[in-house]
Amino acid sequence: MIKLVIFDLDNTLFDTYSQLGIKVLDKMIKRMKKAGLTEKQEKLLREKYITTGFRILAKQLGLSDEIKHLGMDTYKETDLSDIKPYDDVSLIKDFKQKKVLVTSGTKEVQFNKVRILGMQDLFDEILIDESSNPENKQRIFSEIVEKYNLKPEEVMILGDNAESEISAGNNLGMITVQMLRRDFLKGKADYYVKNLYEVKKILEEMK
Ligand SMILES: [Mg+2]
Repeated sequence: MIKLVIFDLDNTLFDTYSQLGIKVLDKMIKRMKKAGLTEKQEKLLREKYITTGFRILAKQLGLSDEIKHLGMDTYKETDLSDIKPYDDVSLIKDFKQKKVLVTSGTKEVQFNKVRILGMQDLFDEILIDESSNPENKQRIFSEIVEKYNLKPEEVMILGDNAESEISAGNNLGMITVQMLRRDFLKGKADYYVKNLYEVKKILEEMK
């Protein structure tokens, strides 16, 4: 039985890709090119930005501190005021399990998103991973299991990113559910869903 669900935010509960991603990325790239971002780095950035946080990509691509900070500052300046959650997010309040939101990025930006999306009261706890390291998710998930005194198999991980939260959940023996709201890279997960109605059904069937 699942006693706690760990939710991802971006592209899971909110359409980051179309509401923020594309607009912001163009602006970021334009500024970073002036500071020396190469064509090759630009290409990789555009390919991977949809599913991978900028801090992690900056590290993978070996961006200089100057370029990285230019990108991050541009992102922080983004107007978030019009963002909206996916309609089915309203289902979460009826989930009987404990709920924890674990999201990667800059604290300030992620907390602003949660506030504007009106999600601050949906969760028992909200944790922001500011590291540039996907492996850090695993550490955070272990700490949650310990804190709530659970077994890994009583915890469900729900997220879109196969290489981050899904992989971390698999490594710890948790139940992983990959949210494929669009055509994301499919990883190894226990379940694949397209919306929260399907998640609700899985939770009910697992009782
Ligand atoms: Mg995500």
